[in-house]
Amino acid sequence: RFGEGSELSLHEAGQRLRERLSDAMGSVTRLRRAIDDGVFGIAFQPIVDIRSGAIHHFEALTRFDEAGTGSPFETILLAEETGLIEDFDLAMARKAVSWLGRLPLNDEHVCIAVNISGRSINSAAYAEGLHRLLEENIWLRRRLSFEITESAQIADLDAANGFIQGLRRRGFGVTLDDFGAGAASFRYLSVLEVDAVKFDGAAIRHAQRAQKGRAFLSALTELCRRMGISTIAEMIETPEALAFVRECGCNFVQGYLFGQPAADIGRFAQLPNRGLLVPPRRDPVGAAKA
Ligand code: C2E
Ligand code: MG
Ligand code: MG
Ligand code: MG
Repeated sequence: RFGEGSELSLHEAGQRLRERLSDAMGSVTRLRRAIDDGVFGIAFQPIVDIRSGAIHHFEALTRFDEAGTGSPFETILLAEETGLIEDFDLAMARKAVSWLGRLPLNDEHVCIAVNISGRSINSAAYAEGLHRLLEENIWLRRRLSFEITESAQIADLDAANGFIQGLRRRGFGVTLDDFGAGAASFRYLSVLEVDAVKFDGAAIRHAQRAQKGRAFLSALTELCRRMGISTIAEMIETPEALAFVRECGCNFVQGYLFGQPAADIGRFAQLPNRGLLVPPRRDPVGAAKA
């Protein structure tokens, strides 16, 4: 259409570009306001102990839409691209802390994990803000943990490890999220001293189909076990996927099979498919398979 050279189509193209720019600027402005005013939601999804079937903790996932069901993925990417992610991750940590603080007494054992972008982890402003938040809320120890997402590359791995060790020394767990989704995974695992690794859902699905996938995932969980690192399998949707990751030795599972993210954790009191998690009686609990 440009080839036609009509002034009208050039004018149209300019118009469209302006609209897209103003849309993008609108999104950034809205995001900035959401961060400053704390107007975004949280949904929680259980992470379940594969042996006992008990809920170990909940992952806190940001929700920007009113229904609380839409994925924040695009907004998170926008925040990473526009440098707003550190402020956002801090706002999310604050929201999670205040949510934990408002739980009734009988929920005092509830633990949650919040996501941190690989970009925030190298930010001095984020580290300082988080430090202040945690110092003011010492009761949070062992109730709060962090998942480092791989959507943005970690610029300085050694500095990131320093940050991680600071959190762990103070009693906060750290998980390496989406392991297997990015190319930097191998170096990440050898440099970052984390408590747990969460295997990426798509990578698990791939391993489930690949000829040597079972050997691969089993070896990977064994490697983690030897390094003293727990393993979590995400996006478990079917009993077959659950059986696969159990046979491969994963310690924890998360996914629609056990519950979609929801604002109210009360909904998980009766965990669906809990029975699937408890190994059948005659199963020698994997020991004989090793
Ligand atoms: P993630 O940390 O890997 O979170 C898991 C995502 O998988 C969530 O998507 C969750 O809703 C989805 N999920 C869970 N179980 C299943 C399943 O069985 N099947 C399928 N198909 N999906 C499942 P969500 O909520 O859309 O979040 C997407 C990503 O956005 C997160 O991936 C995380 O990287 C990022 N994110 C979410 N909240 C925050 C935040 O507060 N800060 C930062 N930095 N990133 C966040
Ligand atoms: Mg996560
Ligand atoms: Mg994940
Ligand atoms: Mg993921």
